[in-house]
Amino acid sequence: MRKSLGERADVAVVGGGVAGLAAARELARRGLSVVVVEENRTGAASRAAAGMLAPQAEADGADELFELLCASREMYTDFVAALGEESGVRVEIDKAGTLYLALDERDEEEAERRFAWQSRAGLAVERLTADEARRVEPNVTPGVRVALRFPRDWQVESRRLVVALDAAAERLGVRIVRAVEALGVRVVGERAAGVVTSEGELEAGAVLFAAGTWTSRLRKFVGGDVENLNDDPQVEPVRGQILCYRQPEGQPPLFRHVVYGPRGYVVPRRGGRLLAGSTTEPGLYDCRVTEEGARSIAARAAELAPAVAALEVEDSWAGLRPRAADGLPVLGESADVPGLFYATGFYRNGILLAPAAGEIVADLLTNGATRLGTDALKAFSPERFHTAAAPPHLLAPQGR
Ligand SMILES: Cc1cc2nc3c(=O)[nH]c(=O)nc-3n(C[C@H](O)[C@H](O)[C@H](O)COP(=O)(O)OP(=O)(O)OC[C@H]3O[C@@H](n4cnc5c(N)ncnc54)[C@H](O)[C@@H]3O)c2cc1C
Repeated sequence: MRKSLGERADVAVVGGGVAGLAAARELARRGLSVVVVEENRTGAASRAAAGMLAPQAEADGADELFELLCASREMYTDFVAALGEESGVRVEIDKAGTLYLALDERDEEEAERRFAWQSRAGLAVERLTADEARRVEPNVTPGVRVALRFPRDWQVESRRLVVALDAAAERLGVRIVRAVEALGVRVVGERAAGVVTSEGELEAGAVLFAAGTWTSRLRKFVGGDVENLNDDPQVEPVRGQILCYRQPEGQPPLFRHVVYGPRGYVVPRRGGRLLAGSTTEPGLYDCRVTEEGARSIAARAAELAPAVAALEVEDSWAGLRPRAADGLPVLGESADVPGLFYATGFYRNGILLAPAAGEIVADLLTNGATRLGTDALKAFSPERFHTAAAPPHLLAPQGR
């Protein structure tokens, strides 16, 4: 007999980052019994994120992803308020907005194009001259040529968000099994029937894979065999490093806005901290901060605001952003194993996506449909990775 990891649940979730927790919380709010298996891997993205809720600052057109990001941003105020009540943790959301700086001719052309399409589309965006930008944020570089202000591109303290999601989920009755590795989905009669873990099996009516960049390592267990999934979204890690500066006590914050440029950003946090990011390093399951990474982040932050160079670096860290082969989120039911769902591939926008993705997964799991259009869901469906003809490889469980 297989060792059991406790009572049967309606849904078993693999991964306790924002993707898994947002879905688990929403499912529990709808009355389902939920278990989350969370291994506490070093390099998990959610605690490393800068927390920008900024679909507009980098957008050069409206596609399905842009629409979803904006829809999620619309949900954020209520999401954070509800989370605060459910968890007792105050999630810090800052609505000062984002200031995007153009520093050379190319940046300026890009900013003008972005301003033109976004204002035509009726989105909230303001074009500022160099003087206006420096009146709004006196510490940005005198080299600024033009700036865009995005009053609705906000930011949230992402670590507090994860703490709040975790606490809210538990208070709503979600069981979180910590420091246990999930190996994959148990398939019985061609349907997902639970999760196989290093400590035993967990029976469930449905399974959600939300293991960030490690999702592609999960397998299916059929009888005594271990097989590859035929719709594995091949999520790869993209390392991002962050420097955390400390402003001297008693001084007013250097910035009110998130200050964003084509090569870097700085994010002011309460209590005198200032985050600067980041790097984009694909393919590495390595979450160390490197000398080269730190040097380039510092140079790019100083390019936006020379005053940053005088600040002390208090901390630094790195996280692995989960990116699917086409860069889009993976949200929906597996074409290979009915009853298996995915919430991964959130890449650079997982914090922003949390409320919408949680709702979509809960909708699909409970109703098979969501208020999001079918076209959008098709773009994000795991079905796009389905390879019906793939031979079932017999594998040994994977190492790290
Ligand atoms: C430097 C940096 C800056 C970022 N800035 C922003 C930003 O400003 N705005 C924004 O919206 N997004 C940002 N992101 C992206 C965002 O952090 C991610 O998209 C998001 O956190 C992904 O969440 P996740 O839950 O899918 O993955 P993760 O947070 O990585 O969580 C996956 C979880 O699964 C667990 N796990 C993995 N495998 C197993 C297993 N086999 N068994 C059990 N548990 C397992 C891990 O322990 C982990 O906790 C940033 C990311 C980085 C790295």
